Amino acid sequence: MYITKMIHNLDEKGNVPKQMHKEAKELASFMALVADETTKQKPSVDIQTDIRCFEKQCDGMIQSEITEDDEIHWICPKCQNEGVISEWQGTRWDNGINN
Ligand SMILES: [Zn+2]
Repeated sequence: MYITKMIHNLDEKGNVPKQMHKEAKELASFMALVADETTKQKPSVDIQTDIRCFEKQCDGMIQSEITEDDEIHWICPKCQNEGVISEWQGTRWDNGINN
């Protein structure tokens, strides 16, 4: 279970920091994609995204939803890898600003 606070992945300009080591960067990029995709639709049940699971050897496609607590929950139905992203509101991947 990955618990991510979106805002902690970012540098002062709201970008994924370039100096992060590779693995952390891949994870941060993944979280950014999930947040971007999920906040477009704000689904209250799991929807299929076109984002590939980041686990090696897994080709599952991520499903995600917005929980009652306004967090993004994502899961890979194939390897059961899952996580929650909070504090995504107001980041550059929050597509719900005009809603
Ligand atoms: Zn997976």
